[in-house]
Amino acid sequence: MTATLIDGKAAGQAIRDKVAAFVPEFERRAGRVPGLATVLVGEDPASAVYVRSKNRATAEAGMVSFAHNLPDTTSEEELLQLVSDLNADPRVDGILVQLPLPRQIDATRVIETIEPGKDVDGFHPMNAGRLASGLPSLVPCTPFGCLYLLKQQLGDLSGLDAVVIGRSNIVGKPIAQLLLAENCTVTLAHSRTRDLPSVVRRGDIVVAAVGRPEMVRGDWLKPGATVIDVGINRIPSADGKGKLVGDVAFAEAVEVAGAITPVPGGVGPMTIAMLMRNTLVAAHRRAGLADPEGL
Ligand code: NAP
Repeated sequence: MTATLIDGKAAGQAIRDKVAAFVPEFERRAGRVPGLATVLVGEDPASAVYVRSKNRATAEAGMVSFAHNLPDTTSEEELLQLVSDLNADPRVDGILVQLPLPRQIDATRVIETIEPGKDVDGFHPMNAGRLASGLPSLVPCTPFGCLYLLKQQLGDLSGLDAVVIGRSNIVGKPIAQLLLAENCTVTLAHSRTRDLPSVVRRGDIVVAAVGRPEMVRGDWLKPGATVIDVGINRIPSADGKGKLVGDVAFAEAVEVAGAITPVPGGVGPMTIAMLMRNTLVAAHRRAGLADPEGL
């Protein structure tokens, strides 16, 4: 079998186009465009690239971005003060503090300081708790993007066996909650799971969010399974530049799976698309408007 490739680039662009199409109507009704504040602390090159792409995508969608670039010597109190100022700023609908943060700053305290209605990353315990309780919330962007791709590929997920590998607050736990809400039977595996290959083999859906290059082998998969590879790992390559691979051994998996996301070009582009979606949704809620439909 050769698996269908799930094109996250196309799906992500379609979401960004839809978000952009909602902005003029929002502006007409609210008298302003949605605003996203990004906060980058320090000079981590990967983080700087991510934040720049987020600011660019915001502008492309016709929304306004407020970029705050702080030195890596910033104290926790200074960052908390900036977050409080952004909470109070009526032009700001979404606040994104890029992780990881420098050592002297407690990321949990920062996340807990973000106003939950502006928490477009969906990491605040209020949003995590509401997601777990089946209540409307702002959902973390990467898992939301994974769910979107799964529904686009499979339609109704009800009754399917889903195996999620990885239990981080950012990916594993929220995607497990989202799949449960879609009536999947969910197994959440982690580093202490016994006999992981046989657990993974149960999955009609497999979501790998581990951070270990090509850990999931082709013969771990149920034939025809739909595989969502969240991992982004840089490994050495012959040309010395290094190359990106996922948590799934793609060349093997593509022979067994029914459908699979490539790395890059699968889950990656969905994260920014869902950030744009969350910013638009947060803006509607803050303006007392109904959520935009079809997003
Ligand atoms: P994380 O916080 O490091 O969590 C990794 C999870 O994998 C943990 O729950 C850990 O289990 C589990 N794990 C580690 N080794 C394992 C093993 N041998 N067998 C089974 N489970 C194992 O990572 P994360 O933030 O969720 O990110 C995971 C991957 O997704 C990374 O490659 C990251 O770069 C990528 N990512 C991509 C995007 C995107 O595309 N936009 C966004 C976020 C993350 P324990 O809990 O037991 O330690």
